[in-house]
Amino acid sequence: MKADIVTIFPGFFQGPLDHGITRRACEMGLAKIEVHDLRQFTHDRHRTVDDRPFGGGEGMVLKPEPIFDCLQPLGLASREQRVDGTAKQSVILLSAQGERFTQRIAAELATLDRLVLICGRYEGVDERVADFIADRELSIGDYVLSGGELGAAVIIEAVTRLLPGAVGNEASTRQESFSGHVESEAPAAADSTCGSGGLLDYPHYTRPADFCGMPVPEVLLNGNHQEIRRWRREQALKKTLRNRPDLLEGAKVSEEDAEILARIKARRE
Ligand code: SAH
Repeated sequence: MKADIVTIFPGFFQGPLDHGITRRACEMGLAKIEVHDLRQFTHDRHRTVDDRPFGGGEGMVLKPEPIFDCLQPLGLASREQRVDGTAKQSVILLSAQGERFTQRIAAELATLDRLVLICGRYEGVDERVADFIADRELSIGDYVLSGGELGAAVIIEAVTRLLPGAVGNEASTRQESFSGHVESEAPAAADSTCGSGGLLDYPHYTRPADFCGMPVPEVLLNGNHQEIRRWRREQALKKTLRNRPDLLEGAKVSEEDAEILARIKARRE
């Protein structure tokens, strides 16, 4: 996958993308990330990327011309082909007004060959960018940041780790929080346990078994894979109910899950 980032702060990305799985994916040739300095696509002495808003109001707005000029030489397919899926490419505008970025969207983007991420600044970006060149607007959460750079880094990290081969153990990315995958049959070993099925992940523990009087749950030490699987599923359901009850609405809840949930709720009352 090739990712192009359009920003007025190219230096921002030295660091966030140079570690861990993202770095490894780039070294392995699974991902290639290119950062484009928007100021290089301006034509005035001051390299102006922003201007005052039409109609008045606070702040400055990123001008459309440098963004159009930056994307033009990238050799992208037409917007129609990108949107109808003929071209495996997506041009994304980072925006607080965008659709909320989720694991489902990360998985969708991981199937593409090319991503272009446009980072806004100031009061935002001239709306013609959203209307005529971006295929979609994505927000990384319901809060306002000062720029799209962190959002672009978030999207690249979430997508890169889903590229086949990026994470050593691919099963681990299928079983994490929010992942839709559910094991179809009761797994033989506890290392391929529950599949989050759209829920939050279950809690993880490692050595020591007793840390300063804080013991690891007994069930994890007894080697009974069936019990461990059930315990993990219960913990995942418990945590989801407590922290993200909204996820349960869209989750695949089996008969066993429904029983566990009923038990948890009864205990709370
Ligand atoms: N006036 C805008 C906020 C502009 S913040 C509003 O009220 O919606 C400046 C830039 O930061 C935006 O253009 C966008 O690129 C980025 N940004 C801010 N919050 C974001 C979020 N939650 N997700 C993604 N990008 C965000």
